Amino acid sequence: MGGGNWWDVLPREVYSTLERVETGHPWYSVYRIHDWLYAILEDGQYDEALMYLIIGEDRAALIDGGTGIGRLDLLVAELTDKPCLLLLTHTHNDHVGGCRVFDEIAVFDDAMSRESAAEGLGREKMGEMLEGDAVIREYPPGFDPENFHAPPYEVTRWLGDGDVVDLGGRMLEVLHTPGHSSDHVCLLDRDARYLYTGDIYYTGAVTSYLPGGDHEAFIESCRRLVDLIPHYDWLMPAHNEPLVEEGQMAEMLRAAEDIGAGRLTEYTERRSVAVNYDVLVRRFQFSRFSLSVRADLFSE
Ligand SMILES: [Zn+2]
Repeated sequence: MGGGNWWDVLPREVYSTLERVETGHPWYSVYRIHDWLYAILEDGQYDEALMYLIIGEDRAALIDGGTGIGRLDLLVAELTDKPCLLLLTHTHNDHVGGCRVFDEIAVFDDAMSRESAAEGLGREKMGEMLEGDAVIREYPPGFDPENFHAPPYEVTRWLGDGDVVDLGGRMLEVLHTPGHSSDHVCLLDRDARYLYTGDIYYTGAVTSYLPGGDHEAFIESCRRLVDLIPHYDWLMPAHNEPLVEEGQMAEMLRAAEDIGAGRLTEYTERRSVAVNYDVLVRRFQFSRFSLSVRADLFSE
């Protein structure tokens, strides 16, 4: 990303086209996309976690739980009085933060998510998200950075591939899409023609090298999502910006395939920076995203 600061790109262009909603929780920037759909953005923190509140006739679903720095439960209660299911796309630290304040939690059932729920994440792993210049907005009242952690949480619905989450008049189809992590899912709303992509696609630094990642699986998942393009118009990613044109999914597939086949020679190489996780990583830059993979992908 060159020199400059990570926040120099803020506010991202797409938000000027959306209706901003003022709430009692200024840690989050909230935008109304429809009367039943809100985008909730943590643009005061480096990861720019982006969540979606989807309101059905019977209940609501919040896709992803963000960093956990703010009180998502209280924010959601301002936007809907329906009971809300927290639906995780996967269990990395910038997605599970909100688990401690929700009673109903759904996540894909595999060893990685079972471990996340049973053990939570400690201060060191969660604290990664507070380091250096990662936070540029004042912490919300009551937040204690010294004691920041994700306690174990109870999953009330273990998801499988092909499951449908029915909110009443609004259906979300669960697509197991490993590659960024083994427990990763995308959610497809065929009626509204939205694909909630989690971390398989966003306009930023996408990875297949993190714990639970697998580049071959990443390619396979992209292929499956490209095959489904006739059923959605917009990508709704878990970071940075919503409402990305569906054709970008084909761009991600091409990028992942070209990297996997060793066809691309321009990249930067560095050690990954994450607690207890140190691997050599190659980062490939494309027009609207980068894709970083383990360097040992190319060693055999
Ligand atoms: Zn992730």
